[in-house]
Amino acid sequence: MWKSLHRAFPTMDELFKRCSAPNSTCPICHNQDESIEHLLLLCQRVEPVWFGGILNLKIDRDTVSSWVEWVLSFSMEHGSPNYDKMALLSYVAFSCWHIWEARCNFLYNNCQINPTQVLCAISNSARAFFEVVRRNPNPSDQGTVAIREPMWFTPPTMFTKINIDASWSAPACSGFVGVVLQDADGFFVAATRHAIRAPSVGAAEMMAILKGCEFGLALGLQKVLVESDSFDSVCSLSESLEMGGWEAFPSLAKAKRLGESFQDCRWSWIPSSANMTTDSLASQQYTEM
Ligand SMILES: [Zn+2]
Repeated sequence: MWKSLHRAFPTMDELFKRCSAPNSTCPICHNQDESIEHLLLLCQRVEPVWFGGILNLKIDRDTVSSWVEWVLSFSMEHGSPNYDKMALLSYVAFSCWHIWEARCNFLYNNCQINPTQVLCAISNSARAFFEVVRRNPNPSDQGTVAIREPMWFTPPTMFTKINIDASWSAPACSGFVGVVLQDADGFFVAATRHAIRAPSVGAAEMMAILKGCEFGLALGLQKVLVESDSFDSVCSLSESLEMGGWEAFPSLAKAKRLGESFQDCRWSWIPSSANMTTDSLASQQYTEM
């Protein structure tokens, strides 16, 4: 099925093989043949979409031999066998779809490719999809959602990862924030925990991001990857403050300003199964550092 899917994708490369295009060159960069790998992963015009997105993915050109293999190895590397793997792959699928859509708009409607617009379209689609999944959980997934495996995504070289999480209790409008710092080699650097008061879970998650930024600045960090499992918070910080809820807005605006105080600050989304260490630090039950 994968192979026929691959052949069914009407890239210039495929069209040329079928004598339906004058050449196989990528119509966007004009540098290489437009294979499915080039179109979705390797073209220089799609690099900012993967790297600028909430997964901060740097595609390693030397290791991509086929799109199908890339998807399979991404899935093996970055997802535990549960709901979050589906979330990650869904985000990748929406990224591919909107890259294809932008390429077709460029080719047939003369619309220049704007990575920011593509990223907004990806997160809007993913957000709507996750909302539907959240409201209509599949009963057959219930057993697997509970499987949670700790997993760390190594930050880029020279970057310190600020991994944050929050717990929140509705009756008391309060909760806890956990922050764990990890260097580029994956070694533990520092951790901190704070009690917070917040009007909503979204506001608690934004406060967690704020505390993470404050902690990083207090330690004099220059390049940071701030990682949260709150999809909405990370999208709001990466794209537009207006996308966040109003209760979270003050922390969101402050976190955005603090982010600009670092030499380089990137906002990154992580599925909650991969955020277990920080998650337990932020939990209500946690009693010792
Ligand atoms: Zn290209």
